[in-house]
Amino acid sequence: MSRLVNGVRSFSTTASSLLADATSASRSVTQPSSSSFQVFRDVPSLRQLRHQLLKNERTVGFVPTMGALHEGHLSLIREAARENTDIFVSIFVNPTQFGVNEDLSSYPRTWDSDVEKLEKLNDELGRTGAPGAGQITAIFAPTSKVMYPTLPPSSEIDGQGSFVTITPLSSKLEGGSRPVFFRGVATVCMKLFNATTPDRVYFGQKDVQQTVIIKRMVQDFLLDTKVRIISTSREADGLALSSRNVYLGDRRRAVGLTIYKALKAAEDAYLSGKSTRADILGAARSITDRVLSEQEALSPSERALFEVDYISLADPDTLDELDLVDSAKGGVLSAALKMAPLEENKPGEDCGLGEGKVPVRLIDNLILQPRA
Ligand code: AMP
Repeated sequence: MSRLVNGVRSFSTTASSLLADATSASRSVTQPSSSSFQVFRDVPSLRQLRHQLLKNERTVGFVPTMGALHEGHLSLIREAARENTDIFVSIFVNPTQFGVNEDLSSYPRTWDSDVEKLEKLNDELGRTGAPGAGQITAIFAPTSKVMYPTLPPSSEIDGQGSFVTITPLSSKLEGGSRPVFFRGVATVCMKLFNATTPDRVYFGQKDVQQTVIIKRMVQDFLLDTKVRIISTSREADGLALSSRNVYLGDRRRAVGLTIYKALKAAEDAYLSGKSTRADILGAARSITDRVLSEQEALSPSERALFEVDYISLADPDTLDELDLVDSAKGGVLSAALKMAPLEENKPGEDCGLGEGKVPVRLIDNLILQPRA
């Protein structure tokens, strides 16, 4: 079904003549005899394909990811398939969005299983056969040198380089703890958008601040693409899917669900007619405070400690904190919780990848819809 060519997988399903035309001249693309999608390592060959697609009046939906794919990522691709003939997916762990104290090397990298998931999804999309149903045509998996061709990428706040900065949005919420994060995200997305020139781009609601920043960037830089936001995929109990969840293990996963329960309690307060910050966020805080004190009372081998980084009630466009929700506009409830490493593992316990030693930052959000 798939094989390795020049260190990159290639595929043996139906050949695409467009893909063949676009890639025959390039050595930075895998050279399978036939393929449902191909892996592009640099920009010129990808552009060649994009030009072919444009000439043939096909549309491109672009889904940027950092890999370690899960159902949340796949839901973005499924939505892109409903609206475009061709889907480009990027897999690139972007160094500039990791701070100097954040461990870029511990970000999960699961290339083979990512490619298998995409291959399976493409089969599924092909079988659906709905009119206009698109499929994945290209995986863009560039090196850091391709994405940052001149200066080596900097994660320092005052580091040099060519960056896109969206202020003040980037310094709020997540930006409080991760000052270079959204500079890195905006910069890499601008580069990826330039490389793929998509008709539409797909982002998950899960990263709400990212959605607000990308929409602002597209608007302010007059980018010719439409931003689509896809709802958060969750586990049955409500935990938002995330590539980082593999590090949680059973104990931290159970306690980590507090972030969702707290947001739900705040949402319930709003839905029951409350509008003030004190009432809405108070409901969330009472959950996090209770769970934290319960955990603190347990022994180190039983507990999972965490720190609430923020719980926010903010305006959907500016992310300014709200004292009162305007019922015509609604609001965004969001939170970040830092799960500390486990202090003591129990024999036989599933402590997750990294044996419970990797701190895990959980983020989640719920949208308060305008009240009629
Ligand atoms: P990442 O690989 O974490 O950078 O995520 C790539 C894209 O997938 C982003 O637009 C995320 O918001 C989106 N995403 C991640 N987790 C989820 C989820 N649980 N539900 C929906 N979208 C998600």
